[in-house]
Amino acid sequence: MPVPKYEAVELAVFSTIIARAACMLDWGSELLAKNARESPGAPVQEVQMLQIGEVLFIAANGEEHLSIQKLFSAFGVVNHASFLLLLKYCYTLLNTESGRKDTFGIGFDYTFSDQEKLTLSFARTSGMIFPQLSHAQIIEAKTLVQQDSVSPNMEKRRLAWFLKKFAGVKKTPGPNLHTRLPLQGWGESKSYPSKANEIFIITDVSKVHAELKLLKVLTVGYMTGALSRTTQRYTLGGLKRTCLFCEAWIDFYKRWMLMKYDVRLQLPVNDTRVKGQGAGHRPVLPAERLVGESRYANTLFNGELNNPCLDLSGMDFSN
Ligand SMILES: [Zn+2]
Repeated sequence: MPVPKYEAVELAVFSTIIARAACMLDWGSELLAKNARESPGAPVQEVQMLQIGEVLFIAANGEEHLSIQKLFSAFGVVNHASFLLLLKYCYTLLNTESGRKDTFGIGFDYTFSDQEKLTLSFARTSGMIFPQLSHAQIIEAKTLVQQDSVSPNMEKRRLAWFLKKFAGVKKTPGPNLHTRLPLQGWGESKSYPSKANEIFIITDVSKVHAELKLLKVLTVGYMTGALSRTTQRYTLGGLKRTCLFCEAWIDFYKRWMLMKYDVRLQLPVNDTRVKGQGAGHRPVLPAERLVGESRYANTLFNGELNNPCLDLSGMDFSN
């Protein structure tokens, strides 16, 4: 299933769904361990996504990507198709606000936060079509949640386990799928990856905000020549609107990338969401990548505490 060209607002919604699903439960806890109790996952403050050609990169703040890895592992995300399926299940379950017991066979409490709802309603006003389950998939989900028997089909078995965990079904029979079927089909990387994969989780744990981690990956892709022949317009979107400092940084970064590599970057258009106060660090590139680069590039990637980037405003690109 090829990866279509997503709009920035679609990436913002995907990030939002992932953020909620990843933090609402500890997806790594053992469902069938004796006396196991469902516990909430770690908070996920930010998720951002960048599309580079047919590859989707996902980054979070700090170590929050660990929660996303657990979620992907629990559902069985291995490529774009399974990633999209995860989004459909999570969005449809969370977005069904009333009649959950009738629809899915069990009631559950999880909902999107106010912050997340802000992004979802922004996307609705942008006319986005959301990833949703079909009627047949909803009926099947209800059956799987209510069924005590274990399907011989491993994919169905995993889906049943995921849905039951999502909905908080107690006493789920069957094997412990999390340990029996460890899945890591997605890619993990700190920098521009050399292997092919449709989905990459960025494992950068620096104090750089998620969107700037992604732009570092894009930059390294160009600096190493890995990206010179691919598409040159990229989309970036996340759970939250880019904060003041990141926005300033991205503004200077965009000008530099356009001049240097003829690269264009698209963020959500007409973003009406509240803009957060500035925070985070500037990204830092490996020292060998900055040899021979301009003072402008060295300042962009100096790794220091970020600010409104006034130090870049008087600087020449090639200086
Ligand atoms: Zn920021």
